[in-house]
Amino acid sequence: MALATPIIAATYAEIALKGRNRTVFMRKLINNIRASLKGEPIADVRHIESRVLVYLDDATTAPRVAEKLRKVFGLQWVSPVVPIPRTEIDLELLSDLEAGREPRLTRISEVACQLTEQNRGNAKNFKVATRRSDKTFPIASPEISMAVGYTVHTGSGLPGRMTDPDLVVNVLVLKNNVLVFTGKEKAFGGLPSGSSGRAMVLLSGGIDSPVAAWLMMRRGIRPEFIHFYSGRNRSEADVDKIIELTKILVEYSPVPLNLHLVPVVPFEVRSIGLVPDNYDMVMFRRFMFKCAERLAKHNSCRALISGDSLGQVASQTIHNLGAITPDIEMPILRPLVGMDKMEITAWSKAISAFKTSILPYRDCCSIRSPRPILNARPQDLLRYSDEMDLNEAVFHALKDSEKVIVE
Ligand code: ATP
Ligand code: MG
Repeated sequence: MALATPIIAATYAEIALKGRNRTVFMRKLINNIRASLKGEPIADVRHIESRVLVYLDDATTAPRVAEKLRKVFGLQWVSPVVPIPRTEIDLELLSDLEAGREPRLTRISEVACQLTEQNRGNAKNFKVATRRSDKTFPIASPEISMAVGYTVHTGSGLPGRMTDPDLVVNVLVLKNNVLVFTGKEKAFGGLPSGSSGRAMVLLSGGIDSPVAAWLMMRRGIRPEFIHFYSGRNRSEADVDKIIELTKILVEYSPVPLNLHLVPVVPFEVRSIGLVPDNYDMVMFRRFMFKCAERLAKHNSCRALISGDSLGQVASQTIHNLGAITPDIEMPILRPLVGMDKMEITAWSKAISAFKTSILPYRDCCSIRSPRPILNARPQDLLRYSDEMDLNEAVFHALKDSEKVIVE
């Protein structure tokens, strides 16, 4: 039977590299963990010896909690942990030391052996890594590693290896417990949600923009989403798919996220007859960015995020990327700009968005005129914007927009 694991230990990566503002990042990380685990039986969350420890009231929830923790940005590895009360360790250790014997550390070694059997997989070698948070523990970390390592080696037949071992058996000595753990799940690293401020994501129903959003969320961005739908109203547009995609992204956020649904009709009625067919696509994209910028300012966002990938489609040539937004005052983050479709698709699958992204959806971009200009000039787009009164279109589109809170 698998050992009970009423504690989950998690490591963080990039935060450890931070200098003076490290405590700010740590506080954010711990708060995000608490928020992400709301509703779970959490007794405590603590930061000890470069690890975050999540104490559970109910050990049976460990797999579910570990899976949720894997989606908390900032964390690198997540491991369920077996605690051994110090009362089961200290008496034996003291009597060994008094008698001048090698310390046996029987309970720690037993658990280490069981965990090694449970999680060794194809490992060809191992190492025991010990840390003492309680420095009053009467023997030093290397001695603990040696005693436990000897038993694991004898029990499992695996040779020890100090550099780059296949399996690491961790022993963490705390005041009341010694924690032992091996199995670990890779989390996504990055920075805690919210530590980089807010940004407005242009979210379509495709593969690219959810990946773009996720990559920037991993850099600590707290996103708001804006989606443009065709049709006269939201039900005609069938935006359920967009809400589903947002829900997938919310799983990586400690808080519910806002999705703004904006109609494109105000653009269409004003552009007819004033914007030539081959400029329709680039002007439409300009309309999207102008709306996004205005909404971003109202929602304390400092940047826009889009899923553009250089050269992917006509609207994403280097000329057009520059011509569409000459007067946007905030940074436009395009995390996919240098990726090809295969890489983007791999990310889409890794974050579990792919299946939803490929469901059929009539995106308003896909119904635009089929032969867009490849090398639009900004001055032409600014002239068409004046002629069709793009600002009015933006004003009306946002007036008719609605906000959905997705959790
Ligand atoms: P695909 O995987 O089909 O390429 P996409 O979302 O990248 O999906 P594109 O036509 O390449 O679609 O659009 C480029 C970018 O423009 C998107 O990544 C997204 O940021 C933005 N965008 C496109 N359509 C919309 C829309 N309806 N609402 C909001 N943003 C959109
Ligand atoms: Mg695309």
